[in-house]
Amino acid sequence: MNTELYSPYRLEQALRLRQESPENIAQEQLFLLKKHLEHALNTPFYRKLYAGKDIAIDSFEDIRDISQLPFTTRQDIDLFGEQFDNSDKTPFRDIALTSGTTGEPVIVPYTAADLKRLAFNEAVAFYGVGVRDNDALLLTVTLDRCFIAGLAYYSGATTLGASAIRSGPGQPARQWHIIEKLQPGVIVGVPTFLKELALWGLDHGIDVHNSPIHSLVTIGESTRKNDLTLTSLGSELEKLWGAKTFSSYGATEFETAFCECRASAGGHIHPELMIVEIVDDAGHLMPDGEAGEIVVTPMGVEGFPLIRFRTGDIGRIHSTPCDCGWNTKRLGPVEGRLAQRLKYRGTTLYPESIFHALQELMSVKHAYIEVRSAEGGGDDITVVVGSEDPALDAERIEDKLQAHLRVRPKVTYTTNTEACAVMTQDGGRKPVKFFDYRS
Ligand SMILES: [Zn+2]
Repeated sequence: MNTELYSPYRLEQALRLRQESPENIAQEQLFLLKKHLEHALNTPFYRKLYAGKDIAIDSFEDIRDISQLPFTTRQDIDLFGEQFDNSDKTPFRDIALTSGTTGEPVIVPYTAADLKRLAFNEAVAFYGVGVRDNDALLLTVTLDRCFIAGLAYYSGATTLGASAIRSGPGQPARQWHIIEKLQPGVIVGVPTFLKELALWGLDHGIDVHNSPIHSLVTIGESTRKNDLTLTSLGSELEKLWGAKTFSSYGATEFETAFCECRASAGGHIHPELMIVEIVDDAGHLMPDGEAGEIVVTPMGVEGFPLIRFRTGDIGRIHSTPCDCGWNTKRLGPVEGRLAQRLKYRGTTLYPESIFHALQELMSVKHAYIEVRSAEGGGDDITVVVGSEDPALDAERIEDKLQAHLRVRPKVTYTTNTEACAVMTQDGGRKPVKFFDYRS
């Protein structure tokens, strides 16, 4: 494993950097940040944004000096996407598409260096998971439709010297055939599919618990709660598979992902690739450990460089040394979307915590939230739950929510079919779980 992963980093150098003191890591980051800013400021968007502003990047003495710079929002990307594109100087080798809030997808170009950066990101993450060069990984995520995560996992695994199996999603029979023939130790996939796959195996007489799979790297929904304990779905996955779960988080726009290590203490922040800040509503920095909006500066991106991108996701940083021996900070699970923040009887909560609580009621198959503006301020929340369980009613579900959330939102109980019909009425790819009618 001596190949240069990402200039100038070999795996050995990357591992060494993670064992340095936090001060030395921050010093290395400051050097990389200045290089990144110098490059990003050459794009039309930032040239315009910084015109007439007197910001002396050379005089930065600390990575926290980045807070002097203005934010970049998702709306900026949607409206001025092409102005971030720096790939006319270095041609793109691949592209990703963001879903976009305006309906128009934005093209994110990846140069050859960006693809190496992407592979480095995932190779080091897999190393932290415990993957080594004699391992095989079953990738049940898609690599097509300009979806970047699948490509990241594939190139990370192969760069590390491991074997990647591009199986894609769905078709449990085929997946189990591959598991039996090729004996991969790791599966990468979305939590709900990994559950479906395990249940299909059990239904077909497979000893899922004793299969060769020892690690589940998950994408999409987090398998951990804010306090880093497993969600109900996460612990169900670990029990079904007899395997450990590793949650990962990333987004197309910022070309970087965070993955948990074996210590399960949040997704490690790659110091070469990322400056992460947590800010309050006014954009002020929040101390480590407190929840706020995740702001990222993905360093070293060539084709689509960003500075202080407000993700709209809520999370917190864990900064105590990690039991795995790496001294890098970690980003906890996404606790919710800023736009979906609920204010209920003096408490702030996010739909995610309601869904995590509902996960514990195994017979709940479909649930969604309706929110309206309450008279006199705050939000009026109705949780609509679909279930066919005769032992379950609105009151029992409200009790469950109260035990978890310390507030008692109103629950309406309906059948699975009715709940499902509402959630899929827009015909989109994913069922809608949050209906916002607030004024
Ligand atoms: Zn760790």
